[in-house]
Amino acid sequence: AFLSFEGIDGSGKSTQARLLAQSLRDAGHAVTLTREPGGSPGAEEIRALVLQGDPDRWSAETELLLFTAARRDHLEKTIRPALAKGEIVITDRFADSTRMYQGLRGNLASVVNSLHDLMIGTEPDLTFLVDLDPELGLSRALSRHGTEQRFEDMGLAMQKQMRAGFLALADLHPNRFRVIDGARSPDAIAAEILALTLAHLG
Ligand code: C5P
Repeated sequence: AFLSFEGIDGSGKSTQARLLAQSLRDAGHAVTLTREPGGSPGAEEIRALVLQGDPDRWSAETELLLFTAARRDHLEKTIRPALAKGEIVITDRFADSTRMYQGLRGNLASVVNSLHDLMIGTEPDLTFLVDLDPELGLSRALSRHGTEQRFEDMGLAMQKQMRAGFLALADLHPNRFRVIDGARSPDAIAAEILALTLAHLG
């Protein structure tokens, strides 16, 4: 099974991806936990190229191509081999993040989808959208003080647009998406996500 976590910065999706991987391993499943941008050595190099340094180095179009190249490498080197071994793959972000971030950045939504169809062509079986008020998400994200501050400097207006975009995407694909209320305690959220995953695995 191929599972993804999506959400705005600071939504708690990375914590939840980790907790789900742990619970499934405890239950005896083989799990690959991975992330984007990144998730393979080549894709991690591309992540550093895009997320570190001058934020204006790449145009929206070039950034989209770099992230798509990273995803292709992630798919070839990490995701497909793990699925072929029968593992459960959990990825912290996948193509829906590009639909939001790169799609919104340059008004490139239709280009994002065309490139996806051409070069990726795969969707997760299940996508957990960890939904959170952007004011909460932003204060969490800013308090992390990471080296990848540039996207988090997008500010509240952008995060609000992202949240609305993710919810609209979930409405469009109700079979794949599960919208999770991210304002609750991590344990309560994790319990719901585990139950939904086990139901999906059958
Ligand atoms: O999820 P994570 O915090 O690792 O993402 C790192 C940064 O990359 C985030 O600030 C996010 O806004 C940005 N990002 C992006 N485009 C993507 C995925 C993530 O700009 N497709």
